Amino acid sequence: MSWAATVLTLYPEMFPGPLGVSLAGRALGQGIWSLETVQIRDFAADKHRSVDDTPAGGGAGMVMRADVLASAVDNVLARRPDAPILVMSPRGRPLTQGFVRELSAGPGISILCGRFEGIDERLFEARPLVEVSIGDYILSGGEMAALTLLDACVRLLPGVMGAASSGEEESFESGLLEYPHYTRPYEWEGRTIPEVLRSGDHAKISAWRQCRAEEETRLRRPDLIARHGGARRPPPSGAQREDEGQKK
Ligand code: SAH
Repeated sequence: MSWAATVLTLYPEMFPGPLGVSLAGRALGQGIWSLETVQIRDFAADKHRSVDDTPAGGGAGMVMRADVLASAVDNVLARRPDAPILVMSPRGRPLTQGFVRELSAGPGISILCGRFEGIDERLFEARPLVEVSIGDYILSGGEMAALTLLDACVRLLPGVMGAASSGEEESFESGLLEYPHYTRPYEWEGRTIPEVLRSGDHAKISAWRQCRAEEETRLRRPDLIARHGGARRPPPSGAQREDEGQKK
């Protein structure tokens, strides 16, 4: 059975959007994953089909109604009891590669996309929802966040990426950023490719990559080192940087 995504949104026309092209689009066409949208407005009970109302206590903007959202969520839960229901939310659990891997290993996910100022708090008390944030900034709605989350999950599904292993050495999987990449031409604007990468010595190349990954992480994201308790693998001997040797 394919990995199934259900998106609850006021803007179903935003899907699959960018997920209809490239890796994710091809996988969607092949049935490796499926995507269903649910129009939240279809669960509004009044004749104006209203999904939002003014904030209790006053203030700017509108708030999404708990009763309407609960009907939509209950409909999805009844049909897809196996999939966790995530709510895109700036106060949610920060999305990490580890969390993405967990979600992509499961049967699929349902995602509720917020709009306006947010969602009536009582919905979170009354339904089993997991709030997820894609970062410390504010989007105008949960749809772009849902697309981001889905893209990250789908590329990990078996058969989506070319080489089965190509996801494994990437940034964050080991608690480190990735090593730098190079490709032809060998010389460009007077700059060459580190000699070690042309040596054909796989042990040496992998030691160099590990070393550079650690260095980049220390420089750019010391918080990752702190969070993961440093690099998992100690740099193997002979891991001296090729360009360091050249500088002397
Ligand atoms: N008033 C809220 C922001 C609402 S933005 C606040 O100050 O926290 C409207 C919707 O966009 C949210 O309900 C959520 O679904 C989505 N959204 C905005 N930023 C997001 C983020 N960083 N991660 C995930 N979803 C986000």
